[in-house]
Amino acid sequence: MATGTSAANIVDNAAAESLCWICKRNKADSGEHKTKRSDLLAVLGKPSQNEPFYYHDQAKRNRAVGSLDAKILKSPIRICSHCNNARTQPHDCAWEAMSDRLRSRRLAVGQWIRCNRIFRYSTKREMIDVHLFFLKLTGCMIAEAKANGHDVPIPLDPFSDAIMSGRPHAEINLQFGRHDGGIGRSDLHVWKTDPGGSVLGGWLYQLDTIAVSVVYAQAGRFEHRRDLWHPHSRTSRKRFQIADFMYSKRDAAELAASSGS
Ligand SMILES: [Zn+2]
Repeated sequence: MATGTSAANIVDNAAAESLCWICKRNKADSGEHKTKRSDLLAVLGKPSQNEPFYYHDQAKRNRAVGSLDAKILKSPIRICSHCNNARTQPHDCAWEAMSDRLRSRRLAVGQWIRCNRIFRYSTKREMIDVHLFFLKLTGCMIAEAKANGHDVPIPLDPFSDAIMSGRPHAEINLQFGRHDGGIGRSDLHVWKTDPGGSVLGGWLYQLDTIAVSVVYAQAGRFEHRRDLWHPHSRTSRKRFQIADFMYSKRDAAELAASSGS
């Protein structure tokens, strides 16, 4: 049984290296930026070798980056250039616009924002495209984890199906919130409830003053949550609530509280 598992992993790894996980047709020859290039430009300006900026993820903190095309900004698992460019371009553009609008407002934690205040026209379509943008990033992380031999209990096919068809992934929800600095992303965390074995997963896209939490909740296993935005949510598809991702402030407050007691 152990041999069977490792043989399957080898086959998966080989396939993951050669074919784009989105279309499963073309050779994977394109790296997707972990943090969107336009977001980096917007918050950092253009870095140079003389004035690098610092990027951190779970693996390494504060690596100096001298160019927006530096390798560490790209997801190591590749998709094909057609999927990365033509196919997902509307998704990239939708997020670029939303990111701009969120960063230019004063956001209050707990505040509800109507989606038509972000996108006046084609609100539903644009918000689905934002959802699809985060599917691309999340799918790349899952593909990467699987290729590295991790047993991730989140199937990749629904991500590919959603992007190929332009329809939402039923199990991926988003939260938009305030963040207190730092650019990068958290690792992907996945939990299984005990008992029940229901799968919950998530990661955080951090962009200085704002952050987006991507939450995977296995279908039919969790109660509906109003604070999670999904294009098909009963209660919150037309609006979303600003979440609190200001962790460093909270850590400092907790530290002060514990040292005071
Ligand atoms: Zn492709």
